[in-house]
Amino acid sequence: MSKRKIVLIPGDGIGPNITAAVKKVLKASGAEIEWVERSAGLGALDEGEDVLPQRTLDAIKEYKVALKGPCTTPIGEGFISVNVQLRKALDLYAAVRPVRNLCGVKTRFTDVDLVIIRENTEGLYSGVENTVTPGVVMSMKVATEKACYRISKWAFEYARNRGRKKVTVFHKANIMKLTDGLFIKKSREVSGEYDDIEYEEIIIDAGCMKLVQDPGRFDVLLLENLYGDLISDLAAGFVGGLGVVPGANIGVRKAVFEAVHGSAPDIAGRNIANPLALLMSAVMMLNYLADTEGREDFCASADRIKQAYNKVLEQGMSTLDLGGSLGTQEFADALVDRMRDI
Ligand code: ATP
Repeated sequence: MSKRKIVLIPGDGIGPNITAAVKKVLKASGAEIEWVERSAGLGALDEGEDVLPQRTLDAIKEYKVALKGPCTTPIGEGFISVNVQLRKALDLYAAVRPVRNLCGVKTRFTDVDLVIIRENTEGLYSGVENTVTPGVVMSMKVATEKACYRISKWAFEYARNRGRKKVTVFHKANIMKLTDGLFIKKSREVSGEYDDIEYEEIIIDAGCMKLVQDPGRFDVLLLENLYGDLISDLAAGFVGGLGVVPGANIGVRKAVFEAVHGSAPDIAGRNIANPLALLMSAVMMLNYLADTEGREDFCASADRIKQAYNKVLEQGMSTLDLGGSLGTQEFADALVDRMRDI
């Protein structure tokens, strides 16, 4: 099979270290990939470029698929999040985040297998913030029929294609009657087209309680932008933390795969970050290319990687966040070693 060109954005903080680890594992899996490396985030600023350079966007438009490390977002000031800008610029409207228990990772719950589908382009992430008058600021929550409909449709299609049984919408339409009201109106409309999938609505505050009491009762979760961001991190806590939750941002014939976690500046440069979330995002990417471009060889590589990390974790080898003692690169080396027998 020919090499597939894929854009790689190393990102900031722990990004370069975990992307190096993931590249090593992908190479050992036999995946025929030629990386087209592009910068974004603080790394791009350091190189004298924009925080999200046009040539990075152009490369993703050309090659359609990217694997992205986390980019730092300054808190309370500075530039708009690179992650948010990228999703909007490429209209990557569906964020997909599978949250599952992993063999070998002990957690309070053992039956977690849910998928978070987050609307990625509007809500309170529209970036419309104003100072109304000194001392009074405002942030606008935006919902459009088009975006609410297409994310609901995407979630139900995903559920059907993956044999999932239920879609639960988390909302606050009792307070945000227009915006969240529109979100559930469109979700209800779409649910009518899917008799085979149960549809459920939960007000998000009560939903959070139910989620932490019994995450196993949930299947596919459908949320607007901010709620999806928050619930993703909350759900990561069920299965071992941010080091093990992958993600994909999907649009029309374009997709960017990235872990749910951020650039984790607190542990950057110490070779202790867990590369698994990004590696699992890369596995999603390989499966996406197998589905959309018929790359069966990528499907085989994805399976090898999954088998390798399951075996390595079962043997008790892991990074610090999971209670182990391996560094980022040593964990990647353990996966590469394991793949020799698979
Ligand atoms: P953002 O605001 O960019 O989404 P975040 O709030 O999700 O970021 P992170 O940068 O992901 O924050 O970090 C949150 C915590 O999780 C930090 O203590 C960090 O060290 C830890 N963490 C995040 N990713 C990893 C990882 N891959 N391995 C180990 N620990 C991680």
